[in-house]
Amino acid sequence: MKMREQMDAAEVNILHTYNRFPVMIDRGEGCYVYDTEGKKYLDFAAGIAVNALGYHYPGYDEALKAQIDKLLHISNLYYNEPMSEAGEKLIKACGMSKAFFTNSGTEAIEGALKAARKYAFLRDGFADHEIIAMNHSFHGRSMGALSVTGNAHYREPFEPLIGGVKFADFNDLDSVKAQITEKTCAILLETVQGEGGIYPAQEDFLKELRAICDEKDILLIFDEIQCGMGRTGKYFAWQWYGVKPDIMTCAKALGSGVPVGAFVLGEKAAAASLVPGDHGTTYGGNPFVCAAVSKVFDIFEQDHILDHVQELTPYLEETLDKLAEKYDCVAARRGRGFIQGLVIAGRPVGDVVNKALAKGLLVISAGSDVLRLVPPLVITKENIDEMASILDQCLAE
Ligand SMILES: *Cc1c(COP(=O)(O)O)cnc(C)c1O
Repeated sequence: MKMREQMDAAEVNILHTYNRFPVMIDRGEGCYVYDTEGKKYLDFAAGIAVNALGYHYPGYDEALKAQIDKLLHISNLYYNEPMSEAGEKLIKACGMSKAFFTNSGTEAIEGALKAARKYAFLRDGFADHEIIAMNHSFHGRSMGALSVTGNAHYREPFEPLIGGVKFADFNDLDSVKAQITEKTCAILLETVQGEGGIYPAQEDFLKELRAICDEKDILLIFDEIQCGMGRTGKYFAWQWYGVKPDIMTCAKALGSGVPVGAFVLGEKAAAASLVPGDHGTTYGGNPFVCAAVSKVFDIFEQDHILDHVQELTPYLEETLDKLAEKYDCVAARRGRGFIQGLVIAGRPVGDVVNKALAKGLLVISAGSDVLRLVPPLVITKENIDEMASILDQCLAE
């Protein structure tokens, strides 16, 4: 079957909730993927910031295959070794207290919101607490995660969502302060806003939020689903700022390709929030996905993945800055480490993305006008040069 026919066949049975790119991806190798007609693409999208180790990283497949041969799933009613190991490594990486594994980022957000509300409920003896989230944020598509997603277009058709959610402006302390009431139990934000358009948090903003949260016993929740797991050059982006959250969510690159997320509680939240019966999941943290998480942490340590990201970040930034200088239609570059955005002005960002696809480069957009680059963390200088050369051609057209 020709690729076009394969895509039409998929549309027959798959609900049309995505306007997919006109390509059927067949396999990956390193930092490249191939479509079913054999065309090769350099991957600067990484399955939306998931494939941190690219494709078939040495040792990764073997670890998953070995776990398939032992035990795929057993439920959370029993202990299993991969979860125990993955939990230990995740907690060590963030220096927090307790982890709960989920199937997705969305579910990690759900758990984080429940933990925050339960904490306030236990403290005050009553419910009805409020959560402050940010405009232009993205936290997922379930009814709870959507409730804290700062994009009215996504929320509107599904209202009423959960109550008690207020929105403030990212990097604007006064705007957050204006939303704080006696009922506020948590402030939720992405350390680097991803889908909203690649906006890193400012250091003062995070430090002042931390101070307010400490003063008023409000839980500070950082969504590290997209910017975490090494993407900025540290395991978690907040580790650059010296501002530790009370609750953190993680997913996407956590398993580098298997569906897994986690919410992690600091000591305060862990000591007084969710207890047996409060929260659960059938699949979450099963032996298969946790074997992947555990192996990902091992590879990060053995192969110094964080150092690699830090070493190559200046080169990636300089390369993108050169494109921004050369072309009027690139208004700015924003980002941190390997989560970078080029603001495209005067022409649709989708036009650049489609041209890149045709020329063998996978990139995606963020917000309405940002070209997003979230490559595997194992890209080389040569990969960056190739990306820049293709983008150069696309921007010139
Ligand atoms: C992708 C994303 C989510 C949702 O994660 P899913 O795995 O798609 O459920 C939540 N928050 C942020 C910051 C994300 O980038």
